[in-house]
Amino acid sequence: MTTPSVVGIDLGTTFSLAAYVENGRPVVVRDEKGDALIPSAISFHDDGTVLVGSAARDRALSDPEHTIFSVKRLMGRTLKDLERELKLIPHQIVEREMEGGRKVLRVDIAGHEHTPEELSAMILREVRKRAGNPTRAVVTVPAYFDDSQRQATRDAGRIAGLDVLRIVNEPTAAALAYGLDRRGSGTVAVYDLGGGTFDCSVLTLSEGVFKVLSTNGDTFLGGDDFDRTIMELVAGEMGVDLGRRDPELLQHLRDAAERAKIALSAAETAELRVSIPGGAADPGAAAPKSGRDGRAPREFRRAISRTEFEALIRPLVDRSIDKCKSALKDAGLTPGQVDEVVLVGGSTRVPYIRRRVGEFFGKTPHSELNPDEVVALGAAVQADILTSGRRDLLLLDVVPLSLGIETLGGVVDKLIHRNTTVPCRATTRYTTAADNQTAILINIYQGERELTKDCRFLGTFKLSGIPPMPAQFAQVDVTFLADQNGILTVSAKEQRSGAQAQVTVQAAHGLTVAEVDQLVVDSIENAQADFTARKLIELRNKAEADLRHTAKALAQAGDRLTPDQRGLIDTTAAALRAAIPGTDLGGLQQAIDAFVAAANPLAQLLMNEVVRHTLAGTAAGDLAEKKL
Ligand code: ADP
Ligand code: MG
Repeated sequence: MTTPSVVGIDLGTTFSLAAYVENGRPVVVRDEKGDALIPSAISFHDDGTVLVGSAARDRALSDPEHTIFSVKRLMGRTLKDLERELKLIPHQIVEREMEGGRKVLRVDIAGHEHTPEELSAMILREVRKRAGNPTRAVVTVPAYFDDSQRQATRDAGRIAGLDVLRIVNEPTAAALAYGLDRRGSGTVAVYDLGGGTFDCSVLTLSEGVFKVLSTNGDTFLGGDDFDRTIMELVAGEMGVDLGRRDPELLQHLRDAAERAKIALSAAETAELRVSIPGGAADPGAAAPKSGRDGRAPREFRRAISRTEFEALIRPLVDRSIDKCKSALKDAGLTPGQVDEVVLVGGSTRVPYIRRRVGEFFGKTPHSELNPDEVVALGAAVQADILTSGRRDLLLLDVVPLSLGIETLGGVVDKLIHRNTTVPCRATTRYTTAADNQTAILINIYQGERELTKDCRFLGTFKLSGIPPMPAQFAQVDVTFLADQNGILTVSAKEQRSGAQAQVTVQAAHGLTVAEVDQLVVDSIENAQADFTARKLIELRNKAEADLRHTAKALAQAGDRLTPDQRGLIDTTAAALRAAIPGTDLGGLQQAIDAFVAAANPLAQLLMNEVVRHTLAGTAAGDLAEKKL
């Protein structure tokens, strides 16, 4: 593989991968086994090693408390946002208050705290490594990601050493992968069912301009739920209580369920096969008294048909179709007005899903490309467009939620309305409420509701330096600017005095630019520090072993050395002993080299000695035999 200089990255909840354009065509990055998907899992170990990808996922079975999944759910969120997510993540999540009241989320994994940005950066670094360490990337996010979630994704990229050229919506990337932009105009619906999330987005294309019209979904609907329905079926028949907190048992059931589900995408029937360590499956032993130890593993086998599976997942699929209806309604369209339908996400490999989506929209959905690779392929196309300059394409996304500021009485005044195409700018004039007010605080909110208490607080800043004036005299223009990436900047200017707030919006949570910079520096410095620490330990061990061996040899044959040879060994040994506690790698290496060189005559001497002894020993043995 040639090393691409720029890649497209799909940073997924369950799987992540990269793609790049080669000879004008997007291709996904694969490992030597041909695998493209990297599980979005990280596992930490006591000795400091960190595993990412399949190795981490394999580890989860035996060591769940050191492994984390679904980091994407935490990106750009506050503890308050995460009520439902917390149940899925078996780690303690804490919120640290930083200066200015800003909050930073941290996940405690085996006694170490990590921000979601750092964790996602570990996944991105793995994806990057597999692609040959490119330095530039386009990274995708769901269309419903808000400002802080996009910002967090961008920060994760930076921490991973990537220059993130653009944050692109996943449905837009999928449409690009199919080259639908070349149609010129039309309407595209993207149905994305992944591991744990579902969304449906409606895009339009007119005169080469792509725009997300609407998006709707459920962040708790995905392939994991399909697995769950099978797990419940099996558990019921085996007499196993799924509510029991037994991670190993659950993992076995989950594996078996997912395997059967995947098999059913290709065959009419599949075998469900569960082997549970220690006989937990014994229906007669509903409440084992002393654990499962010492009992033989229990085997459970059963065939499952496609029809049976379809009946199980039907209510879940119905829910997804309802969301498609809502997305179309928001876009002001009927199913018949959609020209192209694109399937995204591993779960759309299920034939029943294809059928239901096809029926709903009244046309066969695109499924020619691998549904779990299509987003990365589209991101690669976008990356290529941005860097090669060969083709012009305008990608227009929309603001997913209305943006505004707090005005008197806790009311949100919306400057930019939901589904407005980005980039966009809006300015509104405000005034002061009190006499001689020299500063105003601008609080920024996001959401559809009227009152600040029902919306999401995004950030705040102060416009000061307003000259004293009677109330209602000042004229403060507040400007919102949402850029190509959907990232918001807010500025304010008082017109009479020219006072201007230099500060742009500072997210109420997440990392500051300086903190991200520090993390970037830390990861580089630590990489060096980690290496130095390991090397130092290795050298110290070697120095001590050399000193020990030489002391032993001196005791045996030291008297046969010349005084000069002996003196040199003593002085270099003293210098080496002095160098061991230090941290100067080069100095320690030199001291070892000098000592080894000084001890060389002794080693020679002893080697000859060994040879002579061996010969003498043989001779003595011979003699003894003769004596008898
Ligand atoms: P993400 O949620 O990260 O976007 P993917 O789009 O890769 O993840 O989807 C992962 C889901 O797809 C998992 O639930 C997995 O079990 C499911 N999946 C993968 N292959 C198949 C298949 N052949 N049949 C049914 N489901 C599949
Ligand atoms: Mg996905």
